[in-house]
Amino acid sequence: MPPPRTRGTALRQRLAELRGPDVTAKALDARALAALAANPGCERRAILDGAGVDKATLADALGSPSAFGQSQFALTRGNAFEAKVKADGGAELLRLVHERLDPGAAPPAGAALPDLSAIGPEGRTARTALALREATGATGTWTLLDHPMIALDVAGSPAFLEPDAVVVHPDGSWTVVEIKSFPMLDGSADPAKVGAAARQAAVYVLALEAVAARLDAAPRVRHRVLLVCPKDFSNLPTASAVDVRKQRAVTSRQLARLTRIEDIADTLPEGTCFSPELPAEQLTAAVEAVPAAYAPECLAACELAFHCRERSRAAGAVTSLGRSVRAELGGLTTVEDVLAAARGESGDPRDPAVAALRRAARLRTEALGTMCH
Ligand code: SF4
Repeated sequence: MPPPRTRGTALRQRLAELRGPDVTAKALDARALAALAANPGCERRAILDGAGVDKATLADALGSPSAFGQSQFALTRGNAFEAKVKADGGAELLRLVHERLDPGAAPPAGAALPDLSAIGPEGRTARTALALREATGATGTWTLLDHPMIALDVAGSPAFLEPDAVVVHPDGSWTVVEIKSFPMLDGSADPAKVGAAARQAAVYVLALEAVAARLDAAPRVRHRVLLVCPKDFSNLPTASAVDVRKQRAVTSRQLARLTRIEDIADTLPEGTCFSPELPAEQLTAAVEAVPAAYAPECLAACELAFHCRERSRAAGAVTSLGRSVRAELGGLTTVEDVLAAARGESGDPRDPAVAALRRAARLRTEALGTMCH
């Protein structure tokens, strides 16, 4: 087996070939890393992200442009809300952290607000690490890090991540703060949006844990993050503590799996390339060469969702109906198989899924018969 350094170089070269000549790698951000955790079984996404392919451009070239991403209006509204939450040296934000996560600590009056500006992502990462070290050493005080930068090693190269804020508590522990512009109505928000925010925050938690592990003080990175949203339909901030232990575990597993993208790359035919310069048919064949795991959740998390949905429907795959339906149907993987089993043309009647389908088909026939009479 070649030594690790040679293997790393060979993998980077292979990934560059997959991306296409002269195509710059798209850096992975927390959103992309979080979305990986949303669909852990998808090899297609894993290899495209691992190779730094710009999936939005790829979706355009495939003829299925993505509807994914935020509108300019939503971005502007989000930025305005974040500025409001962080006004007056982050007084309201710190009050919310104190109230929801650490009510036993001293109130956060006079919190430190270190300057994190530096040149380039590496400079900003180093500056953040220094600020975290200093804040952790200064026990008894609160520190707010506004837009810190932390690096996470992903498949051998650093992904630079920028949480909305990180708060260092008086006991030296660290909390990730996510500020979102979707409303929290009567104390709860859209579960899908909260889930996406939790996955994103879990990526930051993992990255911070890597920073914490390098410090002598080994500070604790809290697994309950603070999600700040507008209250009801107002512009006033409210917050809720979100436990991200599960999302953290899934993302961590996914990232470990990403380092095995080499295995996925090895299964692809020689000459496979995802360059948007290629004709659509060639590009479609390249994308189809990697197994996908389409589920309706992809629509909110992946730029290739329209393309994969179309292929999944064309193949009659039951996954396009949702993961829960897929799980109920056991070994029946296509809509055609399901209908044949329901009609009694195929399938083992001892299989609970087949038995349930036949019962449902009988009930449907009876109900339709009753309605006709
Ligand atoms: S949209 Fe396609 S590529 Fe993206 S996660 Fe879903 S199945 Fe995978």
